[in-house]
Amino acid sequence: MNMEREEIIKKVRDAGVVGCGGAGFPTHVKMAASAEFVIANGAECEPILKGDQYLMAEKASEIIAGVKYVMTSSSASRGYVGIKTKYRRQGEALRKAAGPAIEIFEMGNFYPAGDEHVMVHEVTGRIVPEAGIPIDVGVIVDNVGTLINVSQAVEKGIPVTRKYVTVTGDVENPIIVRCAIGTRAGDIAALANPRKANYMLINGGPMMGDIIDENFCITKTTGALIVMPFDHALASRKERSGRTSQRRAKSICDQCMDCTIVCPRNLIGHRIYPHKIMRMNFFDAEELNEITSGSFLCSQCGLCEAACPQDLSPRSVFKSVKENLIKKGHRNILTSSDVTPHGMWELRKFSAHRLVERLGLAKLDREAVFYPKEIVPDKVKIALHQNVGAASVPLARPGDEVKEGTLIAKIPEKSLGANLHSSINGTVVKIDENYIYIG
Ligand code: SF4
Ligand code: SF4
Repeated sequence: MNMEREEIIKKVRDAGVVGCGGAGFPTHVKMAASAEFVIANGAECEPILKGDQYLMAEKASEIIAGVKYVMTSSSASRGYVGIKTKYRRQGEALRKAAGPAIEIFEMGNFYPAGDEHVMVHEVTGRIVPEAGIPIDVGVIVDNVGTLINVSQAVEKGIPVTRKYVTVTGDVENPIIVRCAIGTRAGDIAALANPRKANYMLINGGPMMGDIIDENFCITKTTGALIVMPFDHALASRKERSGRTSQRRAKSICDQCMDCTIVCPRNLIGHRIYPHKIMRMNFFDAEELNEITSGSFLCSQCGLCEAACPQDLSPRSVFKSVKENLIKKGHRNILTSSDVTPHGMWELRKFSAHRLVERLGLAKLDREAVFYPKEIVPDKVKIALHQNVGAASVPLARPGDEVKEGTLIAKIPEKSLGANLHSSINGTVVKIDENYIYIG
Protein backbone atom coordinates (compact mmCIF):
# COMPACT_ATOMS: atom_id res chain seq x y z
CA MET A 1 0.00 0.00 0.00
CA ASN A 2 1.95 2.98 -1.26
CA MET A 3 -0.73 5.60 -1.05
CA GLU A 4 -0.06 8.60 1.20
CA ARG A 5 -2.31 9.21 4.15
CA GLU A 6 -3.66 12.51 2.76
CA GLU A 7 -4.69 10.81 -0.46
CA ILE A 8 -6.47 8.02 1.43
CA ILE A 9 -8.34 10.48 3.63
CA LYS A 10 -9.33 12.62 0.62
CA LYS A 11 -10.74 9.61 -1.24
CA VAL A 12 -12.81 8.59 1.79
CA ARG A 13 -14.02 12.18 2.23
CA ASP A 14 -14.93 12.51 -1.45
CA ALA A 15 -16.88 9.24 -1.32
CA GLY A 16 -19.05 10.43 1.58
CA VAL A 17 -18.20 7.52 3.90
CA VAL A 18 -19.85 7.73 7.34
CA GLY A 19 -20.16 5.19 10.15
CA CYS A 20 -22.58 2.46 9.06
CA GLY A 21 -23.24 1.07 12.48
CA GLY A 22 -24.17 4.10 14.58
CA ALA A 23 -25.08 7.73 14.19
CA GLY A 24 -23.01 8.25 11.04
CA PHE A 25 -19.82 9.94 12.17
CA PRO A 26 -17.89 11.13 9.07
CA THR A 27 -15.15 8.52 8.60
CA HIS A 28 -12.54 10.81 7.02
CA VAL A 29 -12.47 12.85 10.22
CA LYS A 30 -11.86 9.76 12.36
CA MET A 31 -9.16 8.59 9.94
CA ALA A 32 -7.26 11.87 10.18
CA ALA A 33 -6.64 11.40 13.92
CA SER A 34 -3.46 9.85 15.21
CA ALA A 35 -4.08 6.45 16.85
CA GLU A 36 -2.27 3.42 18.22
CA PHE A 37 -4.96 0.86 17.49
CA VAL A 38 -7.70 0.39 14.91
CA ILE A 39 -10.61 -1.93 15.72
CA ALA A 40 -13.09 -3.21 13.15
CA ASN A 41 -16.33 -3.67 15.05
CA GLY A 42 -17.86 -6.97 14.00
CA ALA A 43 -19.68 -7.81 17.22
CA GLU A 44 -23.17 -7.27 15.77
CA CYS A 45 -24.59 -7.52 19.25
CA GLU A 46 -28.16 -6.29 18.62
CA PRO A 47 -30.41 -9.39 18.87
CA ILE A 48 -31.64 -11.06 15.66
CA LEU A 49 -29.56 -8.91 13.23
CA LYS A 50 -27.41 -10.77 10.68
CA GLY A 51 -26.06 -8.22 8.19
CA ASP A 52 -22.55 -7.74 9.61
CA GLN A 53 -22.15 -11.51 9.99
CA TYR A 54 -22.94 -11.83 6.28
CA LEU A 55 -20.39 -9.14 5.37
CA MET A 56 -17.64 -10.71 7.50
CA ALA A 57 -18.16 -14.11 5.87
CA GLU A 58 -18.43 -12.83 2.30
CA LYS A 59 -16.32 -9.66 2.21
CA ALA A 60 -13.51 -10.37 4.65
CA SER A 61 -10.77 -9.13 2.27
CA GLU A 62 -12.45 -5.74 1.84
CA ILE A 63 -12.88 -5.37 5.60
CA ILE A 64 -9.23 -6.19 6.20
CA ALA A 65 -8.18 -3.76 3.42
CA GLY A 66 -10.30 -1.09 5.12
CA VAL A 67 -8.56 -1.73 8.46
CA LYS A 68 -5.19 -1.33 6.73
CA TYR A 69 -6.18 2.00 5.15
CA VAL A 70 -7.34 3.36 8.50
CA MET A 71 -4.10 2.11 10.10
CA THR A 72 -2.10 3.92 7.42
CA SER A 73 -4.07 7.17 7.73
CA SER A 74 -3.85 7.19 11.54
CA SER A 75 -0.31 5.71 11.82
CA ALA A 76 -1.70 2.94 14.05
CA SER A 77 0.66 0.06 14.73
CA ARG A 78 -1.93 -2.62 15.40
CA GLY A 79 -5.30 -3.57 13.96
CA TYR A 80 -8.04 -5.83 15.29
CA VAL A 81 -11.34 -7.20 14.15
CA GLY A 82 -13.57 -7.68 17.20
CA ILE A 83 -16.01 -10.56 16.66
CA LYS A 84 -17.91 -13.01 18.83
CA THR A 85 -16.36 -16.45 19.29
CA LYS A 86 -19.55 -17.97 17.95
CA TYR A 87 -18.96 -16.38 14.52
CA ARG A 88 -16.76 -19.31 13.43
CA ARG A 89 -17.18 -19.05 9.67
CA GLN A 90 -16.56 -15.31 9.80
CA GLY A 91 -13.49 -15.76 12.00
CA GLU A 92 -11.99 -18.21 9.50
CA ALA A 93 -12.59 -15.91 6.53
CA LEU A 94 -11.15 -12.90 8.35
CA ARG A 95 -8.07 -14.82 9.56
CA LYS A 96 -7.36 -15.92 6.01
CA ALA A 97 -7.48 -12.31 4.79
CA ALA A 98 -5.65 -10.67 7.72
CA GLY A 99 -1.91 -10.09 7.79
CA PRO A 100 0.35 -10.33 10.84
CA ALA A 101 -0.47 -6.77 11.98
CA ILE A 102 -4.19 -7.56 12.32
CA GLU A 103 -5.61 -9.83 14.99
CA ILE A 104 -9.05 -11.39 15.02
CA PHE A 105 -10.14 -10.78 18.60
CA GLU A 106 -12.88 -13.05 19.93
CA MET A 107 -15.41 -11.96 22.53
CA GLY A 108 -18.17 -13.72 24.44
CA ASN A 109 -21.81 -13.70 23.42
CA PHE A 110 -23.01 -10.79 25.54
CA TYR A 111 -24.82 -7.51 25.04
CA PRO A 112 -23.61 -4.86 24.24
CA ALA A 113 -20.29 -6.32 23.03
CA GLY A 114 -20.43 -3.85 20.12
CA ASP A 115 -20.67 -0.73 22.31
CA GLU A 116 -17.50 1.22 21.39
CA HIS A 117 -16.50 1.72 25.02
CA VAL A 118 -17.02 -1.94 25.82
CA MET A 119 -15.14 -3.10 22.74
CA VAL A 120 -12.17 -0.81 23.44
CA HIS A 121 -11.95 -2.20 26.95
CA GLU A 122 -12.28 -5.82 25.85
CA VAL A 123 -9.68 -5.55 23.09
CA THR A 124 -7.09 -3.13 24.53
CA GLY A 125 -7.81 -3.10 28.27
CA ARG A 126 -8.13 0.71 28.06
CA ILE A 127 -11.11 2.65 29.35
CA VAL A 128 -12.64 5.53 27.45
CA PRO A 129 -13.15 8.49 29.84
CA GLU A 130 -16.63 9.62 30.90
CA ALA A 131 -18.32 11.34 27.95
CA GLY A 132 -15.25 10.50 25.89
CA ILE A 133 -14.68 8.72 22.59
CA PRO A 134 -12.24 5.91 21.71
CA ILE A 135 -9.63 8.24 20.20
CA ASP A 136 -9.20 9.74 23.70
CA VAL A 137 -7.33 6.53 24.52
CA GLY A 138 -5.63 6.16 21.14
CA VAL A 139 -8.18 3.90 19.46
CA ILE A 140 -10.29 4.21 16.30
CA VAL A 141 -13.33 1.93 16.07
CA ASP A 142 -15.13 1.45 12.76
CA ASN A 143 -17.99 -0.85 11.89
CA VAL A 144 -17.14 -3.61 9.39
CA GLY A 145 -19.61 -2.20 6.83
CA THR A 146 -17.92 1.20 7.06
CA LEU A 147 -14.55 -0.42 6.36
CA ILE A 148 -15.88 -2.02 3.17
CA ASN A 149 -16.94 1.47 2.04
CA VAL A 150 -13.46 2.75 2.94
CA SER A 151 -11.74 0.11 0.81
CA GLN A 152 -14.13 0.70 -2.12
CA ALA A 153 -13.57 4.45 -1.92
CA VAL A 154 -9.78 4.18 -1.76
CA GLU A 155 -9.24 1.41 -4.30
CA LYS A 156 -11.99 2.16 -6.83
CA GLY A 157 -13.20 5.68 -6.05
CA ILE A 158 -16.70 4.30 -5.44
CA PRO A 159 -18.95 6.66 -3.42
CA VAL A 160 -21.50 5.40 -0.91
CA THR A 161 -24.71 4.80 -2.85
CA ARG A 162 -25.69 1.33 -1.61
CA LYS A 163 -26.58 -0.18 1.76
CA TYR A 164 -26.86 -3.71 3.08
CA VAL A 165 -30.04 -3.95 5.14
CA THR A 166 -31.24 -6.91 7.21
CA VAL A 167 -35.02 -7.35 7.12
CA THR A 168 -36.23 -9.63 9.88
CA GLY A 169 -38.76 -10.04 12.67
CA ASP A 170 -42.30 -11.26 11.98
CA VAL A 171 -41.62 -12.12 8.33
CA GLU A 172 -41.78 -15.32 6.29
CA ASN A 173 -38.26 -14.93 4.87
CA PRO A 174 -35.61 -12.97 6.78
CA ILE A 175 -33.25 -11.45 4.22
CA ILE A 176 -30.22 -9.25 3.74
CA VAL A 177 -30.80 -6.83 0.87
CA ARG A 178 -28.36 -4.60 -0.99
CA CYS A 179 -30.31 -1.53 -2.02
CA ALA A 180 -29.91 2.01 -3.27
CA ILE A 181 -29.78 4.70 -0.60
CA GLY A 182 -33.08 6.58 -0.67
CA THR A 183 -35.20 3.46 -1.33
CA ARG A 184 -38.55 3.44 0.51
CA ALA A 185 -38.34 1.27 3.66
CA GLY A 186 -41.82 -0.22 3.13
CA ASP A 187 -40.73 -1.58 -0.27
CA ILE A 188 -37.65 -3.21 1.28
CA ALA A 189 -39.68 -4.69 4.17
CA ALA A 190 -42.20 -6.17 1.71
CA LEU A 191 -39.46 -8.30 0.11
CA ALA A 192 -39.25 -10.38 3.29
CA ASN A 193 -43.01 -11.13 3.22
CA PRO A 194 -44.35 -9.75 6.52
CA ARG A 195 -46.74 -12.25 8.11
CA LYS A 196 -49.37 -9.66 8.99
CA ALA A 197 -50.77 -6.82 6.90
CA ASN A 198 -50.31 -4.29 9.71
CA TYR A 199 -47.03 -4.12 11.56
CA MET A 200 -44.64 -1.78 13.31
CA LEU A 201 -41.43 -1.05 11.43
CA ILE A 202 -38.27 -0.48 13.44
CA ASN A 203 -35.17 1.14 11.95
CA GLY A 204 -32.20 -0.60 13.61
CA GLY A 205 -32.02 -3.33 16.23
CA PRO A 206 -34.69 -4.30 18.76
CA MET A 207 -32.71 -2.64 21.56
CA MET A 208 -31.72 0.70 20.08
CA GLY A 209 -33.86 1.06 16.97
CA ASP A 210 -36.64 3.62 16.45
CA ILE A 211 -40.14 3.32 15.04
CA ILE A 212 -40.37 4.55 11.44
CA ASP A 213 -43.15 4.58 8.88
CA GLU A 214 -43.06 2.82 5.55
CA ASN A 215 -42.18 6.04 3.72
CA PHE A 216 -38.90 6.37 5.59
CA CYS A 217 -36.08 6.19 3.06
CA ILE A 218 -32.94 4.09 3.56
CA THR A 219 -29.91 6.13 4.64
CA LYS A 220 -26.20 5.38 4.99
CA THR A 221 -26.82 4.36 8.60
CA THR A 222 -29.83 2.07 8.13
CA GLY A 223 -28.58 -1.39 9.06
CA ALA A 224 -31.84 -3.22 9.65
CA LEU A 225 -35.60 -3.04 9.36
CA ILE A 226 -37.51 -5.10 11.91
CA VAL A 227 -41.10 -6.02 11.34
CA MET A 228 -42.86 -6.27 14.71
CA PRO A 229 -46.45 -7.30 15.44
CA PHE A 230 -48.25 -4.47 17.27
CA ASP A 231 -49.23 -6.85 20.07
CA HIS A 232 -45.60 -7.78 20.87
CA ALA A 233 -44.27 -6.47 24.20
CA LEU A 234 -41.32 -4.87 22.43
CA ALA A 235 -43.69 -2.89 20.20
CA SER A 236 -45.60 -1.55 23.23
CA ARG A 237 -42.34 -0.52 24.88
CA LYS A 238 -41.15 1.25 21.74
CA GLU A 239 -44.42 3.18 21.56
CA ARG A 240 -44.13 4.58 25.07
CA SER A 241 -42.98 8.18 25.18
CA GLY A 242 -40.36 9.46 27.59
CA ARG A 243 -43.06 11.36 29.51
CA THR A 244 -45.13 8.18 29.92
CA SER A 245 -42.03 6.37 31.13
CA GLN A 246 -41.40 9.10 33.68
CA ARG A 247 -44.98 8.91 34.96
CA ARG A 248 -44.86 5.09 35.24
CA ALA A 249 -41.48 5.27 36.95
CA LYS A 250 -42.93 7.53 39.63
CA SER A 251 -45.61 5.03 40.49
CA ILE A 252 -43.92 1.64 40.29
CA CYS A 253 -40.11 1.82 40.52
CA ASP A 254 -39.19 -0.14 43.66
CA GLN A 255 -35.49 0.83 43.57
CA CYS A 256 -34.37 -2.79 43.18
CA MET A 257 -31.28 -1.52 41.29
CA ASP A 258 -31.37 -4.26 38.63
CA CYS A 259 -30.99 -1.54 36.00
CA THR A 260 -27.78 -0.23 37.54
CA ILE A 261 -26.42 -3.73 38.15
CA VAL A 262 -26.48 -4.49 34.41
CA CYS A 263 -25.69 -1.01 33.00
CA PRO A 264 -22.51 -1.47 30.90
CA ARG A 265 -21.42 2.15 31.23
CA ASN A 266 -21.75 1.89 35.02
CA LEU A 267 -19.80 -1.39 34.98
CA ILE A 268 -17.06 0.21 32.95
CA GLY A 269 -16.68 2.71 35.78
CA HIS A 270 -18.61 5.77 34.61
CA ARG A 271 -20.79 7.63 37.12
CA ILE A 272 -24.16 6.67 35.64
CA TYR A 273 -26.80 5.22 37.98
CA PRO A 274 -30.10 4.36 36.27
CA HIS A 275 -31.92 3.57 39.54
CA LYS A 276 -30.99 6.99 40.91
CA ILE A 277 -32.40 8.85 37.89
CA MET A 278 -35.65 6.95 38.51
CA ARG A 279 -35.64 8.08 42.15
CA MET A 280 -34.80 11.62 41.06
CA ASN A 281 -38.06 11.55 39.12
CA PHE A 282 -39.92 11.99 42.40
CA PHE A 283 -38.25 15.34 42.92
CA ASP A 284 -36.76 17.46 40.17
CA ALA A 285 -35.08 15.62 37.34
CA GLU A 286 -34.49 18.83 35.42
CA GLU A 287 -31.81 20.34 37.64
CA LEU A 288 -28.19 19.70 36.69
CA ASN A 289 -26.33 17.60 39.25
CA GLU A 290 -24.18 14.44 39.33
CA ILE A 291 -27.19 12.17 38.93
CA THR A 292 -29.00 13.96 36.10
CA SER A 293 -25.69 14.58 34.31
CA GLY A 294 -25.45 10.79 34.01
CA SER A 295 -27.91 11.24 31.14
CA PHE A 296 -24.98 12.53 29.05
CA LEU A 297 -23.10 9.27 29.74
CA CYS A 298 -25.94 6.99 28.67
CA SER A 299 -25.33 5.09 25.41
CA GLN A 300 -29.07 4.34 25.04
CA CYS A 301 -28.19 0.63 24.81
CA GLY A 302 -31.50 -0.26 26.50
CA LEU A 303 -30.18 -3.01 28.76
CA CYS A 304 -31.64 -1.31 31.83
CA GLU A 305 -35.18 -1.57 30.45
CA ALA A 306 -34.65 -5.20 29.37
CA ALA A 307 -33.52 -6.02 32.92
CA CYS A 308 -36.22 -4.08 34.81
CA PRO A 309 -38.71 -6.44 36.50
CA GLN A 310 -41.34 -3.66 36.40
CA ASP A 311 -40.98 -3.06 32.66
CA LEU A 312 -39.72 0.48 33.25
CA SER A 313 -37.33 2.36 31.04
CA PRO A 314 -34.51 4.27 32.70
CA ARG A 315 -33.17 4.71 29.16
CA SER A 316 -36.21 6.80 28.09
CA VAL A 317 -36.07 8.78 31.31
CA PHE A 318 -32.38 9.54 30.73
CA LYS A 319 -33.23 10.62 27.18
CA SER A 320 -35.96 13.03 28.35
CA VAL A 321 -33.79 14.36 31.16
CA LYS A 322 -30.92 15.03 28.76
CA GLU A 323 -33.19 16.84 26.29
CA ASN A 324 -34.56 19.02 29.08
CA LEU A 325 -31.10 19.81 30.45
CA ILE A 326 -29.89 20.82 26.99
CA LYS A 327 -33.01 22.97 26.48
CA LYS A 328 -32.13 24.78 29.69
CA GLY A 329 -28.59 25.38 28.40
CA HIS A 330 -26.89 22.85 30.71
CA ARG A 331 -23.91 20.72 29.70
CA ASN A 332 -22.42 17.52 31.11
CA ILE A 333 -20.37 17.90 34.28
CA LEU A 334 -19.07 14.30 34.47
CA THR A 335 -15.82 14.10 32.52
CA SER A 336 -13.41 12.08 34.64
CA SER A 337 -10.68 10.08 32.92
CA ASP A 338 -9.69 8.44 36.18
CA VAL A 339 -12.03 5.51 35.65
CA THR A 340 -11.85 2.00 37.13
CA PRO A 341 -14.16 -0.80 35.99
CA HIS A 342 -16.50 -2.40 38.49
CA GLY A 343 -15.05 -5.54 40.11
CA MET A 344 -18.10 -7.53 38.89
CA TRP A 345 -17.71 -6.48 35.24
CA GLU A 346 -16.91 -9.97 33.93
CA LEU A 347 -19.63 -11.71 35.95
CA ARG A 348 -22.33 -9.20 35.08
CA LYS A 349 -21.98 -9.31 31.31
CA PHE A 350 -25.52 -9.83 30.05
CA SER A 351 -25.91 -13.04 28.02
CA ALA A 352 -27.23 -12.41 24.49
CA HIS A 353 -29.26 -15.66 24.72
CA ARG A 354 -30.91 -14.46 27.91
CA LEU A 355 -31.64 -11.13 26.27
CA VAL A 356 -33.34 -12.73 23.26
CA GLU A 357 -35.50 -14.83 25.63
CA ARG A 358 -36.30 -11.83 27.79
CA LEU A 359 -37.37 -9.73 24.81
CA GLY A 360 -39.60 -12.56 23.55
CA LEU A 361 -37.62 -12.74 20.31
CA ALA A 362 -36.54 -16.40 20.33
CA LYS A 363 -39.04 -17.35 17.62
CA LEU A 364 -37.97 -14.42 15.48
CA ASP A 365 -34.24 -15.14 15.75
CA ARG A 366 -33.62 -16.87 12.41
CA GLU A 367 -30.92 -16.96 9.77
CA ALA A 368 -31.29 -14.41 6.99
CA VAL A 369 -30.39 -15.21 3.39
CA PHE A 370 -28.91 -12.77 0.89
CA TYR A 371 -31.61 -11.42 -1.43
CA PRO A 372 -30.46 -12.33 -4.95
CA LYS A 373 -31.39 -9.03 -6.62
CA GLU A 374 -29.97 -5.59 -5.86
CA ILE A 375 -32.85 -3.17 -5.31
CA VAL A 376 -32.55 0.01 -7.37
CA PRO A 377 -35.93 1.76 -7.64
CA ASP A 378 -36.97 4.29 -10.32
CA LYS A 379 -37.19 7.05 -7.74
CA VAL A 380 -35.36 7.76 -4.48
CA LYS A 381 -35.56 10.34 -1.70
CA ILE A 382 -32.10 11.09 -0.35
CA ALA A 383 -31.94 12.69 3.11
CA LEU A 384 -29.62 15.70 3.36
CA HIS A 385 -28.79 14.91 6.97
CA GLN A 386 -27.50 11.33 7.29
CA ASN A 387 -24.48 11.94 9.48
CA VAL A 388 -23.24 13.38 12.75
CA GLY A 389 -22.60 17.11 12.22
CA ALA A 390 -24.16 19.46 9.71
CA ALA A 391 -26.56 18.56 6.89
CA SER A 392 -25.09 18.41 3.40
CA VAL A 393 -25.55 21.43 1.11
CA PRO A 394 -27.31 20.65 -2.20
CA LEU A 395 -25.25 21.15 -5.36
CA ALA A 396 -27.78 19.63 -7.73
CA ARG A 397 -30.72 21.71 -8.97
CA PRO A 398 -34.21 20.58 -10.00
CA GLY A 399 -34.07 19.40 -13.60
CA ASP A 400 -30.43 18.22 -13.43
CA GLU A 401 -29.71 14.87 -15.03
CA VAL A 402 -27.68 12.71 -12.62
CA LYS A 403 -26.09 9.31 -12.70
CA GLU A 404 -25.43 6.84 -9.92
CA GLY A 405 -22.42 8.32 -8.13
CA THR A 406 -22.95 11.98 -9.16
CA LEU A 407 -22.12 14.34 -6.29
CA ILE A 408 -25.44 16.00 -5.39
CA ALA A 409 -24.67 17.63 -2.02
CA LYS A 410 -21.45 18.60 -0.27
CA ILE A 411 -20.01 19.14 3.18
CA PRO A 412 -20.81 22.70 4.35
CA GLU A 413 -17.79 25.02 4.66
CA LYS A 414 -15.73 24.53 7.83
CA SER A 415 -18.20 21.97 9.20
CA LEU A 416 -18.28 18.35 10.21
CA GLY A 417 -20.26 16.62 7.49
CA ALA A 418 -20.34 14.26 4.53
CA ASN A 419 -20.77 14.40 0.76
CA LEU A 420 -23.88 12.86 -0.80
CA HIS A 421 -24.17 11.14 -4.17
CA SER A 422 -27.08 10.14 -6.33
CA SER A 423 -27.89 6.46 -5.88
CA ILE A 424 -29.68 6.06 -9.25
CA ASN A 425 -29.61 7.41 -12.79
CA GLY A 426 -32.37 9.97 -13.24
CA THR A 427 -33.49 13.59 -12.97
CA VAL A 428 -33.55 15.73 -9.84
CA VAL A 429 -37.27 16.31 -9.39
CA LYS A 430 -37.39 18.44 -6.28
CA ILE A 431 -35.22 19.64 -3.39
CA ASP A 432 -36.61 20.73 -0.05
CA GLU A 433 -34.91 21.47 3.25
CA ASN A 434 -34.64 17.76 4.15
CA TYR A 435 -34.38 15.75 0.92
CA ILE A 436 -33.28 15.57 -2.68
CA TYR A 437 -35.88 13.70 -4.77
CA ILE A 438 -34.60 11.89 -7.85
CA GLY A 439 -36.78 10.06 -10.35
S1 SF4 B 1 -34.79 -2.09 37.61
FE1 SF4 B 1 -36.74 -1.06 37.34
S2 SF4 B 1 -37.76 -1.16 39.31
FE2 SF4 B 1 -35.59 -1.65 39.65
S3 SF4 B 1 -34.65 0.33 40.16
FE3 SF4 B 1 -34.43 0.08 37.98
S4 SF4 B 1 -36.19 1.10 37.10
FE4 SF4 B 1 -36.65 0.78 39.26
S1 SF4 C 1 -29.51 2.62 28.26
FE1 SF4 C 1 -29.57 1.98 30.41
S2 SF4 C 1 -28.13 0.31 30.54
FE2 SF4 C 1 -27.65 1.41 28.65
S3 SF4 C 1 -26.10 2.92 29.21
FE3 SF4 C 1 -28.08 3.93 29.41
S4 SF4 C 1 -28.65 3.65 31.55
FE4 SF4 C 1 -27.02 2.17 31.12
